[in-house]
Amino acid sequence: MHELSIASALFDIVSEQAKRFPGERVIGVTMSIGGVQALEPDAVRTCFTLLSEGSAIAGAELTIERRPIVVFCRRCEAEREADTNFACVTCGNYGVRLVGSQAMSVEKMTLRSRENTMDESHGR
Ligand SMILES: [Zn+2]
Repeated sequence: MHELSIASALFDIVSEQAKRFPGERVIGVTMSIGGVQALEPDAVRTCFTLLSEGSAIAGAELTIERRPIVVFCRRCEAEREADTNFACVTCGNYGVRLVGSQAMSVEKMTLRSRENTMDESHGR
């Protein structure tokens, strides 16, 4: 149910943001999530589609980006990307500390004015 809670939080954020643009329709959403999170992108997308059905953001296409795992490596004494085992990709050291948020965040929303949308539906 992890995916559902992420999709639900995403839906709340996007719905709230969409209210600021009453003349426009949300056609695309890009979210990112920390690389440590175990996540099934398809499941998030399905949940998001179901939640948004019949709402102001229905039909918005969801793109999910994974942020790299970033750690502070004690050997490199710098922030480095790490693999899924939390080993520094530069030196392979495991003496690392996870930095950066793993939370979901909305990166981008694509809007289209409702006028254009109307034109499109006439064409069908
Ligand atoms: Zn390192």
